[in-house]
Amino acid sequence: MNAPTPLHDADTLAFYDREAGVYAARTRGEPVRLRAFLEQLRPRAAILELGCGGGQDAELMSAAGFEVTATDGSAGLAAEAQARLGRPVRVMRFEELEDVAAYDAVWANACLLHVPEDGLADVLARIHRALKPGGRFYAGFKSGDGGDRDSLGRYYNFPSEERLCVVYAAAGAWEPLDVTTGQGGGFDGVQRTWLHVLAVKGA
Ligand code: SAM
Repeated sequence: MNAPTPLHDADTLAFYDREAGVYAARTRGEPVRLRAFLEQLRPRAAILELGCGGGQDAELMSAAGFEVTATDGSAGLAAEAQARLGRPVRVMRFEELEDVAAYDAVWANACLLHVPEDGLADVLARIHRALKPGGRFYAGFKSGDGGDRDSLGRYYNFPSEERLCVVYAAAGAWEPLDVTTGQGGGFDGVQRTWLHVLAVKGA
């Protein structure tokens, strides 16, 4: 395996740039988890979306009346999302997040799973800092026993649930930190166990 750089994997971002058009046009499942997440927020809450991909989730959140800041580390996918949303989408890698107490919620669907294992605590600490006290944060990970690449060359951190809880705890206080598991697929067509993490920033 090519070793990823500490905070992001250039090969993975290059993959999304290369495949941006196809990836943004793929069929996605019903956004059940996103709808449940939004039900917990106040009307017009400020939501930061990390790794927004083609912008489908940002489109849904915006249509529901939330103030959405959509971002992605791939310029190609940010352009796809921008075309979908009709407004600017910032090209931002996770490790470039510098906001402080700016958001009521952070939505990071199936994207922090690409952060190199050694960089995940730093990225989670940035998210913790960007949230207001009591702010809500969702991220989904593919579970496993450590970093590896899929058949498409994308890097994944593949944490165990125990490992993930340790890394979240190192990044800040969460009350509560709730992990649920489920089966799900991906762009590589492989079914895996997913870890869905809902965390609330401690006051
Ligand atoms: N969240 C979208 C969705 O659910 O359709 C896209 C998920 S896709 C599996 C992963 C996304 O994370 C891609 O849009 C990719 O460009 C982005 N990404 C990967 N590494 C990143 C990084 N270091 N910083 C920011 N975005 C990154």
